[in-house]
Amino acid sequence: MSRPKLGLSTIAIHGTPHRRPDWSPVAPSVHQSSTFVNPIGADDEVLYSRYGNNPNQVEVARKYAMLEGADAAIFVSSGMGATALAHLAVLRPGDHLISSTWIYGGTQKLFDEELGRYGIEVTYVSPDQARLWRKSVRKSTRAIFVETPTNPLMRVIDLGPIANAAEEYGLALLVDATFASPINFRPLEHGADVVITSATKYLNGHSDVIAGAVAGSASFVEEVTRLMRLWGQAIDPHAAWLIDRGMRTLSVRMERHSINGMAVAQWAEQHAGVSKVHYPGLPSHPDHKHAKSVLAGFGGMVGLELKGGAKAAERMLKRLKLITHAPSLAGVETLVSEPRLTSHKAIGAEGRARIGIPDGFLRLSCGIEDAADIIGDLEQGLKQVSKEV
Ligand SMILES: *Cc1c(COP(=O)(O)O)cnc(C)c1O
Repeated sequence: MSRPKLGLSTIAIHGTPHRRPDWSPVAPSVHQSSTFVNPIGADDEVLYSRYGNNPNQVEVARKYAMLEGADAAIFVSSGMGATALAHLAVLRPGDHLISSTWIYGGTQKLFDEELGRYGIEVTYVSPDQARLWRKSVRKSTRAIFVETPTNPLMRVIDLGPIANAAEEYGLALLVDATFASPINFRPLEHGADVVITSATKYLNGHSDVIAGAVAGSASFVEEVTRLMRLWGQAIDPHAAWLIDRGMRTLSVRMERHSINGMAVAQWAEQHAGVSKVHYPGLPSHPDHKHAKSVLAGFGGMVGLELKGGAKAAERMLKRLKLITHAPSLAGVETLVSEPRLTSHKAIGAEGRARIGIPDGFLRLSCGIEDAADIIGDLEQGLKQVSKEV
């Protein structure tokens, strides 16, 4: 039977819609059970929650795969778990990985500190030197890893040329698209083989779960599932239920995150206390044109550079009342953090300056509050600062 193609909002709520039996609950149940009754004499695969075949784990994965346009998906216990298992599934000892330099700090540490232990070498390529992707390919190269949009400069990388190179050399292209969510950007539609997301962020969206997911071909997801079972990375059924519940509002949340991100970015760009704003929705952003052509929305992440540097940033942070100073992102509440003390601490002030993150840089994760209230809080915080500086 051919079915009309469903919209992303409908999929995020229903997955594959089906008629419910009379008197059945409208909301899904939590199967908070480690194990399930095994029919005597059956030699089917047993149901066991470490295997990822608990109904809550299965449902949320099916829905996420549909949103990404993938054959299959699997949830694991964190975004880092998803990144680690995706790479272990693709790479073997002696293999070579090419990675973008603009990646999450934890991912960089995983590559630098762990992959070497398995005899896997990593070469970093800066996406603004696009010809280096091809130049870095060796006989042993197996995969390319890219994150887009990037943290915290919100660079939006053109996957086209990278996907072409990957195809030409028979490499797997893995893309972490956490900052966009499948509502705003689906890497598989742009030539990626694998998409990785930290479900801790937009998918769940309520800052109360740590989880990650990968999506791709059935055989790739099967291999990640095998590793997940052996390395003990399964997601807890209650966490899976919470993400499934969060995903029901993913589409409307993303819409509001994008509206608020744009409002804050536009306000900040004309504010005398702000020296630079990084938001792909602004014409001043280096990737604005490309972002406009590939993103369905620009999202809620905004980078702000304050006049007065780290001192001004600290003064303002101390005065914020609505906006919470905390790492992580993509929840319903607006959060702010300083990359110099969190995601980009390890590389030092010089390293940060080199990649365009001066001290005093603030990373704002705009929530879904009223934009006027987010802006009002920033305004009052900055007013005090300019009086004092
Ligand atoms: C947060 C984040 C991760 C890691 O996710 P966890 O759920 O914290 O393990 C990976 N990639 C990006 C882009 C992130 O923002």
